[in-house]
Amino acid sequence: MKAIKSIDDIRKRVKSLREDGKTIGFVPTMGALHEGHLSLFRLAQQHADEVVASIYVNPEQFAPGEDFEEYPRELDDDLAKCKEEGVAAVFAPSDNIMYSGRQYLSIEVDELNKYMDGGSRPGFFEGILLIVNKLFNIIEPDIAVFGQKDIQQFRILQQMVKEFNHDVQLVMGPIKRANDGLALSSRNAYLDAEQRKLAPGLYRSLQYVSKQIEEGAKNIQLLLDHQKSELEEKGFKIDYLNLFSFGTMAPVEEIEYDNKYLLAGAVYLGETRLIDNCIIEK
Ligand code: AMP
Repeated sequence: MKAIKSIDDIRKRVKSLREDGKTIGFVPTMGALHEGHLSLFRLAQQHADEVVASIYVNPEQFAPGEDFEEYPRELDDDLAKCKEEGVAAVFAPSDNIMYSGRQYLSIEVDELNKYMDGGSRPGFFEGILLIVNKLFNIIEPDIAVFGQKDIQQFRILQQMVKEFNHDVQLVMGPIKRANDGLALSSRNAYLDAEQRKLAPGLYRSLQYVSKQIEEGAKNIQLLLDHQKSELEEKGFKIDYLNLFSFGTMAPVEEIEYDNKYLLAGAVYLGETRLIDNCIIEK
């Protein structure tokens, strides 16, 4: 299987699939594909006749000092995995194709961007909106699948589809985990053996607090503070660990009925940033 590099060529490929009467499911990725990505391909296949994937490490969503240079790039392995999963086409453009010439436009995000990863990583979601907007205009898929692992991304893209009138249905895929509970991520490759052993601690903390909430615990901040201290003692550096409203992505103190919440965390082990979340519906 070969990667399609140019915008014209991927448009032609998608057009020919459409002429065969196929609906298109799209899964954007940054490559270094793992079971989490593959589960999204399979989910896309349940919602559409053919799957188109993109593999592109988008420079616009990395701030200076982040891991853009180090981010794993494994295109040949990725293409073999896509072939095995029956992906119909892989779009893997270069930077000068995706950002050809001077770029005069940008997209801003309002309050949905204030907390969680948006709060910690300035420019991150603006970069994601830019690239997904471009990719949606190039592929024009019927459905597009994104992972719950990046839940704020999903929420902000939902808003983009609504406000920019993209004719696409977004589907959210559940988080795929290693046997010990660690959410799969291309960045897990940065962890050394010791850090890898500690890493599922974040999920365990989220699970613990989520169970306490299910069982009616009221003082959620106290529970979270306790989990933060425990994680810090083990060697994690906490970026955030909190309860958020799914609608506004803002922190909430208390659970009300008939609402959707997120228990979400971002932590560092050494230089490696890990994120995870649980959805809580009351
Ligand atoms: P990335 O390559 O990290 O940009 O991720 C591409 C897509 O895969 C995004 O929609 C992610 O949310 C999703 N994804 C990443 N990790 C997982 C996972 N462990 N389980 C399911 N989906 C994931």
